[in-house]
Amino acid sequence: KKITIAIDGFSSTGKSTLAKQLAKKLEYVYVDTGAMYRAVTLFAMKSGFVDAGEVDEDALVKSLGDIELNFIFNSDLGFAEMYLNGENVEKDIRTMPVSKNVSQVSVIQGVREKLVAMQQAMGVDKGIVMDGRDIGTVVFPNAELKIFMTASPEKRAVRRYKELLDRGEDVVYADILENVQKRDHIDSNRTISPLKRAEDAIEFDNSDLGLEDQFQRIYEHSLR
Ligand code: C5P
Repeated sequence: KKITIAIDGFSSTGKSTLAKQLAKKLEYVYVDTGAMYRAVTLFAMKSGFVDAGEVDEDALVKSLGDIELNFIFNSDLGFAEMYLNGENVEKDIRTMPVSKNVSQVSVIQGVREKLVAMQQAMGVDKGIVMDGRDIGTVVFPNAELKIFMTASPEKRAVRRYKELLDRGEDVVYADILENVQKRDHIDSNRTISPLKRAEDAIEFDNSDLGLEDQFQRIYEHSLR
């Protein structure tokens, strides 16, 4: 029987790598909700609604109807890519400028309402692995399996640093460590849907656990 799997946790804990693997193995749909918040952030930046880290909340909320988001499956890559108003933005949404503004956009209630409604609609049929910050607490409080991932900030910053280097971005490690910590702080302390472990989530601290071990353990849970 197909279930709903919610994977939440701090940034760069390897949630998406794991969620993707799990979805592939179980033949489930994978949804990266961070990509959706990132795409809305990119839209806000392109529209001139972000100035020196300050987001013009009213302007963005008024324009929410102009934002069309789609996940389109890329069979070469084996996962879905994010499209914003018809344009593939998979690369653009992962850059540092977007990472620096995304947590400020994610505190906006109107933004969360729009994205949560979309996420819930994607999950009606079960057989879904969704990762984010509020999946087990807000989007799918009744998910059959909830995972909460943590790791030390340094481990996470190293992971992010390698990812961005691999993508050819010109990045400084200290900048990334600062960004990861700042996002976690904002995400954990916001009033709407703060990042926290759902009471019934299984916690994984992967500071010292290899990806393969983690995957095996989570996969076993998904079969129970
Ligand atoms: O998962 P990722 O690191 O790409 O998420 C980027 C940002 O999007 C997070 O730091 C958080 O501010 C926001 N986010 C959120 N709720 C989610 C997923 C992401 O607020 N479900």
